Amino acid sequence: MKKHNFSAGPCILPKDVLLKASEAIMDLEGSGLSLIEISHRSKDFVAIMERARTLALTLLGLEDQGYKALFLQGGASMQFLMVAYNLLEKKAGYLNTGTWSDKAIKEAKLFGEVVEVGSSKDENFNYIPKGYTVPHGLDYLHLTSNNTIFGTQIKKFPKTDAPLVCDMSSDIFSRVLDFSKFDLIYAGAQKNMGPAGTTLVVVKEDLLGKVSRKIPSMLSYQIHIEKESMFNTPPVFAVYTSMLTMDWLEQLGGIPAIAEINEKKAQLLYSEIDLNPVFQGYANQDDRSVMNATFNLTEPKLRDTFDEMLREAGINGLNGHRSVGGYRASMYNALSLESVGVLVDVMSEMERKG
Ligand SMILES: *Cc1c(COP(=O)(O)O)cnc(C)c1O
Repeated sequence: MKKHNFSAGPCILPKDVLLKASEAIMDLEGSGLSLIEISHRSKDFVAIMERARTLALTLLGLEDQGYKALFLQGGASMQFLMVAYNLLEKKAGYLNTGTWSDKAIKEAKLFGEVVEVGSSKDENFNYIPKGYTVPHGLDYLHLTSNNTIFGTQIKKFPKTDAPLVCDMSSDIFSRVLDFSKFDLIYAGAQKNMGPAGTTLVVVKEDLLGKVSRKIPSMLSYQIHIEKESMFNTPPVFAVYTSMLTMDWLEQLGGIPAIAEINEKKAQLLYSEIDLNPVFQGYANQDDRSVMNATFNLTEPKLRDTFDEMLREAGINGLNGHRSVGGYRASMYNALSLESVGVLVDVMSEMERKG
C-alpha cells in the first residue's frame, strides 16, 4: 500500500529521484560503474558536483551575483559553528525562534558576543517575534527562516544594515523570496533537497576574509570555495541525489511552480485545522509554516482512535516533536496535494466520530 509520508526529516523525496538514485547505485548513467565506487575526481563526478552547485544558484536566482554554492558535510549543525568561526569577530545578532536558533546561539557564543535581538521563548516558540530592533554594527544577523519543530515561518524579513545569515534547512526551494537579500544561506539536505549527509551553503564571497582568527581548513568557507567543494572526499550519494531533486524542481518550473502547490497544500490542511472542532493549531496563525503544520486534538482521549485511523490510511510520520507534543504534518516539496487530501479526509472522519 502506498504510504503518505509526512515525516519532518529525513523525509519524502520525489519518486523519480529515488528511482534514478537507486539506478545510479548499480550503474551511473551507463558508465558500467556504481556512483559510490568511482573516484570523486573522475570526470563523471566532477560534472555532477558542478551541476549541483550551478542548479542551486540558478533555482535561487543568484547566478553571477558574487555567490558561491558549496556542498559540505556535518549537517546544518556544523553550520551553527562554521558561520561564527568564519564571520564573528566581535558581535552578532540572533533571532531566537526555537530549538535550532537556540543551538546556533550556543555555538556562536564560543566565538564572540551574541545579542538575542528577539525571542518567542515566553510562548514556547509558537510565534515569530516582531517589532524588535536590530542594533547597528553587527558582524551579521542570524535567522532561522522556518522552525521545523514549532511550525513557524518568517514571512517578513527584518531590515538591517548587517549581513543576513539564514538557516533555511526546512524551507529551502519552497517559496519565492528575494534571495539576494541574504549574504549566507545554509540548509541541511535532508529536509527538502536530498538524503542526509550534505549541507548546501550559498555564500557571498565578499563576506569572507574579515575575521582575524585562524580558521582550520575543513571549517573555512574560503578553502571549500577554492577547492570547489572537493577539499576532501564529498558525500557523493547525497550530492548526486540532491542534484536529481534540483533537476526535478527545475523541470517542474522552479521555485515559483512548487510554491504555488505548497500554498495549496498548506491552505487545505490549515482550513481543516481551523474548521474542525476536534483539532487545534499550535502556531500563531500569521506565522504558520507552509512546510510544517503543528496541531493537536482538542480531546486528548481521542488520540488512540486518530492514530489508528492514520495508520489505516497509510499516513506516516505525523507525530509531533517531543518539545511540542501533538501532531506535525510536514509538507515538503515532494509531498503531493493528494496526500494532504488523504490526511484531511481522515481528520473530517474524526469529526464525525468525535
Ligand atoms: C533539521 C534542522 C537542523 C539540523 O540539521 P542537521 O543536518 O541534522 O544538523 C537545523 N536547522 C533547521 C531549521 C532544521 O530543520
